[in-house]
Amino acid sequence: MGHSITLFNKTFVPFISAEAIKDKIKTLAADLTRDYAGKKPLFISVLNGSFIFSADLFRELEIEAEICFIKLASYKGTQSTGHVVTAIGLDINLTDRHVIVLEDIIDTGKTLHQFLPQLVNQQPASLKIAVLLHKPEAQQYPVNIDYCCFTIPNKFVLGYGLDFDGLGRNTREIYQLSE
Ligand code: 5GP
Ligand code: MG
Ligand code: MG
Repeated sequence: MGHSITLFNKTFVPFISAEAIKDKIKTLAADLTRDYAGKKPLFISVLNGSFIFSADLFRELEIEAEICFIKLASYKGTQSTGHVVTAIGLDINLTDRHVIVLEDIIDTGKTLHQFLPQLVNQQPASLKIAVLLHKPEAQQYPVNIDYCCFTIPNKFVLGYGLDFDGLGRNTREIYQLSE
């Protein structure tokens, strides 16, 4: 694997190699190809962090499928209850569709926990969640994760689409904050 990288005076060390990511995405694509054959599923990719994961996964699928993109922003008020605002909305009707949400990482789970009811309201035929990364130790809000590439410890990561203050998305590996 490559070298450490430094951003805003913080050091990040190589954590998941490009090859390991590629392998997991191929396996996930094979699982989805098997599970959704003939169903013309609709993938909903949550921007920004999921864009590279979504593109790499989508091109490996060997079934007819659609993809669209939404952008969610979560704001924390002065109290611990935050709320999720849709910055770029959904322009496709989900009724009777087989829907798979693509997320880069489940951390606290707040974003998806608060957003998923909006999808359920449209009565999709099915609704599943596929994530690249999951930090179970950080999770505070319940989210049913149906497909997960990597379960990781509760440490900040970047790369392969995930950012640190807007930077660091353009790496082939995933890096972990070194402490
Ligand atoms: P949540 O806490 O709602 O599950 O996660 C919200 C969002 O925070 C994720 O979709 C992701 O964009 C960002 N996030 C959470 N943990 C990390 C992390 O370790 N690294 C980076 N770069 N983003 C994270
Ligand atoms: Mg995200
Ligand atoms: Mg971010």
